[in-house]
Amino acid sequence: MGSNCIFCKIIKGEIPTDSKIFEDENCFVFLSISPVNFGHALVIPKKHFENIYEVPDELIAKLSVAIKKTAKAVKKAVNAHGINIANNNERPAGQVVPHLHFHIIPRFSKDGDINILAEHHKKYKNGEAKSVAEKIKSEWE
Ligand SMILES: [Zn+2]
Repeated sequence: MGSNCIFCKIIKGEIPTDSKIFEDENCFVFLSISPVNFGHALVIPKKHFENIYEVPDELIAKLSVAIKKTAKAVKKAVNAHGINIANNNERPAGQVVPHLHFHIIPRFSKDGDINILAEHHKKYKNGEAKSVAEKIKSEWE
């Protein structure tokens, strides 16, 4: 599974990304390429697990810390009014990439009642993802 996985390829650098925010031995954090709002980040384990059922307790604990740090950094970087944290497990729940991931989604008062599962429509223009990722990195504590 891991060898065809788009997230594993990003982690290994086989697919280049200019939107990496953070990595350590367990976790990898980068921007979604089709964000709900700009600054929408993904927190994933470096090791391939398909979903929440399979990930070891020790690793989910470490991911939780990265999720919290990402939420705070994204909020500051894009001046969000709120943050959604979402994790979709299996297709009927909206999981598209079969590598465990947590969405950190900045939200704004003007968003209204959007469906964060369905509305992944925005696109970064050239260089924008890199500058948003840099901004989030600069807010990382
Ligand atoms: Zn993977």
